[in-house]
Amino acid sequence: MLNEIKGILKNECPNCRKGKVFQNGIINFGLGFPKMHEQCPNCQTKFEKEPGFFFGAMFVNYALGCAEALITYFLVAPFFEKTFDLRIFPIIAVVMLTLSIVNLKISRLIWIYAFRNYKK
Ligand SMILES: [Zn+2]
Repeated sequence: MLNEIKGILKNECPNCRKGKVFQNGIINFGLGFPKMHEQCPNCQTKFEKEPGFFFGAMFVNYALGCAEALITYFLVAPFFEKTFDLRIFPIIAVVMLTLSIVNLKISRLIWIYAFRNYKK
């Protein structure tokens, strides 16, 4: 499990752990949709196992977003007098927008790792 988390955070292929899944790494704030290798440059493992394979990664992305929003809320809430201050929402929105590309990459990596033993 710890090994998988390490592999996900290092953007490594789940099969050989040498090739990279995303071309520019996880932390990269360039514009445009992140570029992903179709298959591992090292062992040729196909990352998108079937059409629409990454549809499920959307739910992982949603869960990550909710977790980040909650964490942001609990980090920021002590700085406000009211427990439910409306000024917290723009802060949460900025954090979520900043992390959206990172979330997308991590959710796809989690999805690839979850189905790494699945053969079509
Ligand atoms: Zn590989």
